[in-house]
This record gives sequence, structure tokens and C-alpha cells, in this order.
Amino acid sequence: MSAGGIKPKTTFQQAAKVTLANSQMRRNLRHATTTIRDKRLRTVAELPDWEALRDEGARIKDHVLANLGEYLLDLEASVKRRGGHVHWARDAEEAREIVAKIAASHGAREVIKVKSISTDEIELNAALERHGIRAIETDLAELIVQLADDRPSHILVPAIHKGRAEIRDLFRAKLGAELLTDDPKHLAEAARVYLREKFLTTKVAVSGANFAVAESGTVCVVESEGNGRMCVTLPDVLISVMGIEKVLPTWQDAAVFLRLLPRSSTAERMNPYTSFWSGVTEGDGPQEFHLVLLDNGRTDVLADDVGRQTLRCIRCSACLNVCPVYERTGGHAYGSVYPGPIGAILTPQLLHLEDKNANTLPWASSLCGACYDACPVKINIPEVLLYLRGKINEAKPLSAEAVAFKTVAWVMAEPHRFEGALKLARTGQGPLVKDGAIHALPGLLSGWTDARDLPAFPKQSFREWWRASRER
Ligand code: SF4
Repeated sequence: MSAGGIKPKTTFQQAAKVTLANSQMRRNLRHATTTIRDKRLRTVAELPDWEALRDEGARIKDHVLANLGEYLLDLEASVKRRGGHVHWARDAEEAREIVAKIAASHGAREVIKVKSISTDEIELNAALERHGIRAIETDLAELIVQLADDRPSHILVPAIHKGRAEIRDLFRAKLGAELLTDDPKHLAEAARVYLREKFLTTKVAVSGANFAVAESGTVCVVESEGNGRMCVTLPDVLISVMGIEKVLPTWQDAAVFLRLLPRSSTAERMNPYTSFWSGVTEGDGPQEFHLVLLDNGRTDVLADDVGRQTLRCIRCSACLNVCPVYERTGGHAYGSVYPGPIGAILTPQLLHLEDKNANTLPWASSLCGACYDACPVKINIPEVLLYLRGKINEAKPLSAEAVAFKTVAWVMAEPHRFEGALKLARTGQGPLVKDGAIHALPGLLSGWTDARDLPAFPKQSFREWWRASRER
């Protein structure tokens, strides 16, 4: 069972130390992110109106967020009009109970799932397990993560950290597949044989939702394999769990995002499978449809003037693929189903900035701004990162590190203080210098030299040299 949830078990720094030591994972990640990054740049460059599309995407999302209550009520009315049921879930616990209750009321022992990050957010699989119901992932990458009893490490490609040989061994062990090669075709075939039987025999399905159109009550999932299409059409009962920010007013709005999403996520011009469903239709598709609208901290994010833009996110994963920190640490270091730059701002906010491990995530960034450049809905991630750092620091008592930095700021504010400090450092560094560098600083300062050397302070500073050369 793949673990999920948004509560990191350790700080980002502790978790990153572990993942950074896994060189195979780093190789897999570098290969995957570099490939998709280059492809995305080429696909995006084909569109002359890409920047205008991004602006439009951001504008629509901001409009929705400013009128969220109204559009959610419209969506509820439309879904009900089409014969569906709507449930409101304040938090993960409520959402889990709603889904489990519906599945249990149909006597389900198994449910099939199409990749849904919101159900991973609420740790639905484990909750269903407690009710004696087994959730079977049908997205290939999610299935790999589930069979390996692992955690997803990427929004779009949850098994991005796994190599093909690892997957072959996993399928041999868990699916009894007689695979001789790690050819992707053979791997996909092994999964297909296993899943086909599940599609044809399972009565209840759980899906996520990329968007929902309020005017018609239509829910939409975009995916690449067609397994999602099977999930939302073959079973008798369909339960879709959707974050409340995914609502869009009209089909015209949805058209903008169906252009923005594939190019940003998989670098494709069009999405291979885009499924839409509106309530129920007699004799066609699931005959019972439930839409669970999930808050789970989102209204608090909405109430924050700066943090609100986080809810524009369409989970394309473009920011992950360009992030130098994500590329090196991998998704597991973020300890949440939302990794990478978006995870660094979304996770702590969903937890109301009260989780001490999640509160380390806004520091998981070099602030290079690559995520902002790549984001199709122009979320200013660096701005939100800095804002959250400020808020988290404000709430903390002054640490020894903060006092040290305040002292450094005071010293650097005046040239004479700075020069005096340099002279002191030059005199005091004597016993620490070996071969022109300081390899280990004592006490609190040791963090600076844990992973790198500090050059020794030179005999003459630039200012001293400048003054001396003027006098000559
Ligand atoms: S923050 Fe932007 S780039 Fe990152 S996943 Fe969300 S929409 Fe995509």
C-alpha cells in the first residue's frame, strides 16, 4: 500500500540528507527531469500566444478564487441536476469517511482508483484498508509505487525515482509476471494483464479531478494511459474527490487549461485521454456518481492575500522538473504527496503553518526563480517562499542562529565595523587554517563546513589593498 499524506515525518534537511545519498535515484531523476524539461521548452515555444495563455490561466484562476463560494454552489446545483450527489468534506477525516461509507454501502471489498493526488493527500488507501476495502491503483506509475510499498516522488510521474530494472523485478515478485526484459512495452503489458481483470470485475471506482465545470456539473480527468477512462466508465459507482479550488465557471475556461496543462506537464500538444462526465446517464457509464468537495485547509490558504495564489496550481509539475533542489533531493525529501516547489509552499499552508517539519519546506529552495518562469498559471513561488519564511520566523522565539545573523547584519551595516571584524577573524582563524582553507568550524558555526570548506581570510582585504595601492 503506498503511503501518502501531507505531514512530513522529519525536517526537509534531515530527509534530504538521506535521499542525497542515493546516487541511483539522483541519476534516474536527472535523466527524467532533463528530458522532460527540454521537451517542454520546445513544445511551449511552438505557441506564439503562450504568454497570453498563461496570463489568461492566472486571470481565470484568480477570478474563481475571488468568487469560490458562488462557483462551488453552482457546481453543486449542476451535479445534482444531472443526477449526481455532492458531499462537502471539511478535512481529510471527513473525506475519508464519506468515501469509505459509500464504498461499504455497496459491499465493496476492492475499489479501483485512477491517479488522484487529492486521495493521496487524505491517505484514502490506508483508511479504506481499515474498513476492509482494498484500493487498487490503476495508473501505471501509481501501481508501481503501491506494489513497492513506497511513496510517490513526483506529482505526475510518482515512480520517477525507479529504474526499469527495479520495476521488472517488482512485477516479477508481486504480479508473478514472467518478464525477461525491462523493455517498457513488456512492463506495460504485464500491468495491463493484471489491471484488465480488475477493471472488468470491480464495481466501485474512486477518481480525482483535474477540473470541474460549474455551468454543466462536468468533472474532468486528464491522463496518458487510458486507465483513467476505464475507471470512470466501467464500474457501477464512481466517487470523485476534488479539491475545492479545481472548479471552473465555464467550458471556455476549461479550454484554456486543456491547452496549458499538457504542454506544461508531459510536454505534449494534446492530452492523450481527456475524460468528462456529468452526473449519470441511464445505460451508459456508472449509474451512481458522488462528488466529494475537499477543503482540508484550502479556505485558510484562500484567506491569505499572498499565499492565495498557491491555489491557482493545476498540478502540472513543470516547477518540479526545473527545480535544482528537487532534481538533487528527489520528491521523498519533501515528506508530502506534494513535492518540489509547489509542495514547499502548499504543504505548510495546508497545515496552517503549524507543523514544525512542514515549516522547514519553504527553505527547500535556492530562490533561483526557475519555477516561476515555468509555471503556466504564473504562481510567484519565490515570493510565497520568502513570505512564508518570514511568517514562520516571526512566530518563533529568537534562535541562536537568528541572533548571530542579526549581529552579522549589524556588523556589515557600517564599513568600519566590518573591517574591524575582518581583522579579528584574520587573527582568530590561525589554528583552524590548514592548506589555505578552514575544513571544520567549531560549535554552532560547524554547519558552514559540514559539506564544504571555507577559504581562509586573506592577509589583506580588498579595501586594505585599495587604500595601500592609492598611497603608492
Ligand atoms: S505551481 Fe505551477 S508549475 Fe508547479 S505544479 Fe502548480 S501549476 Fe504547475
